Amino acid sequence: MQMQSLKQYLYNPICLSCGSFFVNNHLFCNDCYQKKIAPISEMKMKQLTEKFESYFLLNWIPFESDMLSEMVYRMKSDKCFGAWMYYAEKAADELAENLNIEQIDYIIPIPGSKKTSVHSHIFAQLLGRALRKPILDILVKTQTIGEQKRKNKTERLNKTIRLHEQFTRNLNLLGLARSHVLVVDDILTTGSSFIQSVEALGPVRKATLLTLFHRTANSNTVLVS
Ligand SMILES: [Zn+2]
Repeated sequence: MQMQSLKQYLYNPICLSCGSFFVNNHLFCNDCYQKKIAPISEMKMKQLTEKFESYFLLNWIPFESDMLSEMVYRMKSDKCFGAWMYYAEKAADELAENLNIEQIDYIIPIPGSKKTSVHSHIFAQLLGRALRKPILDILVKTQTIGEQKRKNKTERLNKTIRLHEQFTRNLNLLGLARSHVLVVDDILTTGSSFIQSVEALGPVRKATLLTLFHRTANSNTVLVS
């Protein structure tokens, strides 16, 4: 028991809601999890465009929920492998109730812009294990500095998602055009990375986005002039 508490203390410091040391992999004590997270972590669908739908577990409105903001922050830190395991399994279970999992052929992570952004890959790996689907890590994100529009303006970073060069020639073998791909990321904001990823993949039978969080703009933002 003592060893277990020490492990919890080291890896998941305190409950994100009440500060208790008795924390589980879901980052809360069981009490807070049941009261505050379980009721709101149900798979929700959002239609991104006419063609594409996305699914997410938790709706995050920054500045409205310190608890969820802290959760996102902690999930993005390097101590949270257990939490990704927990929520990936939950996401896999919940997705199976919303989608015909049988029809998914591949799981494809959206690449992060920095080399250190590995969370979509971790999420994809764990989902792949839970859903028993192969992971195709074939997308890369490149950054090029765009031409400066005006003097003294900050440099514009052009981010593009493209296929990893090593795969482009063998792509036919994957049969993507006949496949339903589950594209995975940690947070859905505008969906533009997803659309870029699908464009980079070329023709697919169907593409669906799955994220853990959906970041929504502040609902009561007031612009003060
Ligand atoms: Zn708690």
